[in-house]
Amino acid sequence: MKSNTIKHVFFDLDHTLWDFEKNSKLEILSIWEQYNLHQKGISLSEEFLKVYERINGICWAKYRANELDKDALKYIRFYDTLLYYGIDDLEMAKNMGITYLENSPKRTCLIAGTIAILDYLLENYSLHIITNGFEEVQHVKLNNCDLTKYFTSIVTSEEVGCTKPSLEIFNYALKKADALNTESVYIGDNFKVDIEGANNAGMKAIFYNPKKEKHDLKILGDITLLAQIKSLL
Ligand SMILES: [Mg+2]
Repeated sequence: MKSNTIKHVFFDLDHTLWDFEKNSKLEILSIWEQYNLHQKGISLSEEFLKVYERINGICWAKYRANELDKDALKYIRFYDTLLYYGIDDLEMAKNMGITYLENSPKRTCLIAGTIAILDYLLENYSLHIITNGFEEVQHVKLNNCDLTKYFTSIVTSEEVGCTKPSLEIFNYALKKADALNTESVYIGDNFKVDIEGANNAGMKAIFYNPKKEKHDLKILGDITLLAQIKSLL
């Protein structure tokens, strides 16, 4: 059933609109080629990608737990990946970190249906972004994909100084958007970070859930395709 009390639609960016996985994979494979890793003994690009993704996940968990700062996160994930292959090269890791951060946000793969749903929603709602990520990186993604024009306000965790699911970032974003929580819905792909976070802030929530994760929170919607938002809003 459609909700007629909603005036503001807040989106997560990574994995919800911007296809982080696809863009990141393409960039890591390009780094493997650019840094001649084949000649340095890392013969399989796809395997390098898998190792990097595992180690990157560990590094992000440490960053979220304040065990790793922003600058360290940028290169430790590459340093540890190279170490896995017995290559101890801090300088190369730092350069790879720079290459990745410079180039991967410029990539433009979007989750299927992104432009169509934004065009649809823009007719009746104010649209906003709340994203965990670095200020300079997230804006490059939005600009290169020509998405900035859709959003009245954009909030990054770096701007606020805390990450989702903290109540502070949702309240900050509501204030910046001049929106009430009761007239706002949040759409994101991470149940804990996005959906529980939005719920705690008193916002309605739509779980973009292509992996069909089970949960027992009562929310406005649980969808596997962005196009399904049309039946809710
Ligand atoms: Mg996300």
